[in-house]
Amino acid sequence: MEDIKMVDLKAQYGKLKPELDAAFSAVMESMEFINGPQVDNFARSLEQYLQVKHAIPCANGTDALQIALMALQLPAGAEVIVPSFNYVSAAEVVALLGYKPIFADVLPDTYTLDPTSVSQLISPATAAVIPVHLFGQAAPMHEIMQLAHQYNLWVIEDNAQALGARYVQPDGGEVMAGTIGHIGTTSFFPSKPLGGMGDGGAVFTNDDKLAAILKKIANHGQSEKYKFSTIGVNSRLDTLQAAMLDVKIKYVDEYNNARQEIARFYDNAFAETQAVQAPHRASYSSHVYHQYTITVAPELRDQLKSHLRDNHIPSMVYYPEPLHLQEAYAYVGKMKGDLPVSELLSRSVLSLPMHSELKVEQLEYICEHVLDFIRKHG
Ligand SMILES: *Cc1c(COP(=O)(O)O)cnc(C)c1O
Repeated sequence: MEDIKMVDLKAQYGKLKPELDAAFSAVMESMEFINGPQVDNFARSLEQYLQVKHAIPCANGTDALQIALMALQLPAGAEVIVPSFNYVSAAEVVALLGYKPIFADVLPDTYTLDPTSVSQLISPATAAVIPVHLFGQAAPMHEIMQLAHQYNLWVIEDNAQALGARYVQPDGGEVMAGTIGHIGTTSFFPSKPLGGMGDGGAVFTNDDKLAAILKKIANHGQSEKYKFSTIGVNSRLDTLQAAMLDVKIKYVDEYNNARQEIARFYDNAFAETQAVQAPHRASYSSHVYHQYTITVAPELRDQLKSHLRDNHIPSMVYYPEPLHLQEAYAYVGKMKGDLPVSELLSRSVLSLPMHSELKVEQLEYICEHVLDFIRKHG
């Protein structure tokens, strides 16, 4: 049996090598490394894929969040609600821009932002909320948008992990995750659902005015060359990355479907035990399984991880410590016990190998070792 990998970028590259190499060579021949035609071409492909009016590429997913927040021009002292059980980016850019990150708890089943927790944290200073479509599934956007309308809040969807997920509106209509709030953001970090060969990101919106500001901010705040009408940043997607991504975007759904297939295999295997909680599938969103994240009893999690490692099965803890308990964000003032779901999840989650190239014999081997361990200790 081949070595089991958490993600298998090499196999993915192998399959698309002729197309990717041709796209790469075309950029090398043209030498247009900055803002070459491939950047605009990719932006149009992304708009078409997401069925969104404007997509603006930028340098990475964290920049995308920063540019989105800058575009909102919030008042000084504004509070922005972010989930505590998350990667650091959203909270980081809020703090970096001088706003106050307000950490909310997440739902125990989907691990995404809990609207009840959000509603309890809304204050007169709250200006925006950043739901994160964690692990490949949309946050409960209907409830979040209702709160946003009620309290006049901006909504930035962090769609770094769920590009390609379909969100079902209460009327049954389907839209792409990331296009529901005022601005959506994503990352093209190599392991993400649409991954480049380096860093990359994008912001998207259906709002013409916001699009114009976003575009300007990503380009040093220039309205035209050497006319700086607002403070901006230098955040460009490399032409080379755009060329790679414009090839790979055609295969996003294929990769997402392949991971869904693998998720079904895991789900079936773990259905026999209560001791392994398979990822919940929300009724309102498809799940593209950026991660396949199970939960087990907190006292078993690290032992299970070691047991898997001893058997050459990689696994990862996303995320081992909620943000409100991290040193950098202690100043926000949240204490241990304040966000119990985030705290429990950080001690009980384990992400298993998940990529389109996993073979049945590898999946059987992984499930066998998880279940073996659970039978002995669960
Ligand atoms: C990866 C990721 C980011 C940051 O993306 P970078 O391109 O690494 O800056 C932001 N938010 C979430 C949820 C992510 O998974």
